Amino acid sequence: MPESLFTTVSNSNPDFIPNRRPRKGVIVGAGQVGMACAYSMLIQNTLEEIVIVDVNTDKLEGEVMDLNHGLPFVEPTIIRSGTLADGEDADIVIITAGAKQKPGESRLDLVQRNLEIFKGLIPQVVNYCSKAILLIVTNPVDIMTYISLKLSGLPTASVIGSGTVLDTARFRYLLAEKFQVDPRSLHAYIIGEHGDSEVPVWSKVNISGMRLFEDEANDSPLEDAENIKPIFQQVKNAAYEVIQRKGATSYAIGLGVTQIVQAVLRNQNRVLTVSSLINSFEGIEDVCLSLPAVVNRQGVSRFLNLTLTPTEKEQLQNSAKVLRQTMEKLDLSP
Ligand code: NAD
Repeated sequence: MPESLFTTVSNSNPDFIPNRRPRKGVIVGAGQVGMACAYSMLIQNTLEEIVIVDVNTDKLEGEVMDLNHGLPFVEPTIIRSGTLADGEDADIVIITAGAKQKPGESRLDLVQRNLEIFKGLIPQVVNYCSKAILLIVTNPVDIMTYISLKLSGLPTASVIGSGTVLDTARFRYLLAEKFQVDPRSLHAYIIGEHGDSEVPVWSKVNISGMRLFEDEANDSPLEDAENIKPIFQQVKNAAYEVIQRKGATSYAIGLGVTQIVQAVLRNQNRVLTVSSLINSFEGIEDVCLSLPAVVNRQGVSRFLNLTLTPTEKEQLQNSAKVLRQTMEKLDLSP
């Protein structure tokens, strides 16, 4: 920098360090999902420093260059490529690395491939990013969250899966379209597995507290069930439909991850259907799945003891069983 460009203010402190550490996040995996997360967080001023890590170094460099070229249009953010060793003081590590579904493949089909990647990755994350909350996005996300918890030895609260945050968003969007209201004014949850056994909580769907379905044992609908219930099939099949057309889902999960990261770093106590270890709910134990949970600086601090109808309870227990059966086949030894 030419000396003549600036004049130093006479009593400024050359050793000045701001008294607050920048909010720093590491994204592992610069694929479609990782980059959608990076872009969404960048334009929503979520982090002050983003380190992106990928084994495909050419792609990684290109992605980082592309994002940096947009810096004149957003709030100041440091964006760089790096390794996990650059995440030493990171607040959050977002893991999107790994295999994704090919058309027709289920999320659970990915488990063996992604387990092998995580066996290498998670011990390194813990080693280098020891103060960070872990946010798992790689599929099958509930299983990968459980694996990360076991491989990391971190407290339960510190390991979050993006869970059914995306499915819940799809559910709210589709229902809101039907009722012609802003999706932010329509409250509804998908719980359980982020996958084929996920559960719609019809009994809690509401607009401004007005329930659209009774929570009687027979789930009797207030609105025309025949027209509304197929919406859940659209939610459940959404990823298959998108993947068949464009090869991956990315923007909506990027926006969802941004909400989770903001809930953590801004200590928002926001209720989100993230995946975390459930040890005692409706007979479910030792499995990671989604329930509406309070997310803050600790990670997942509490989850809601939802009152479910008998049908919903049975479906949730089945979802937990599907996940447990998959996990029991896994070998977590190094
Ligand atoms: P992608 O193939 O575009 O990207 C994956 C990236 O991971 C690649 O760039 C690859 O080089 C990188 N990678 C692989 N091993 C690595 C390692 N050891 N270290 C660092 N980087 C590594 O895939 P995608 O579309 O970005 O999807 C990523 C994952 O996210 C998939 O498992 C997908 O199923 C999942 N996903 C989850 C949700 C959700 O709601 N949880 C939504 C969409 C996709």
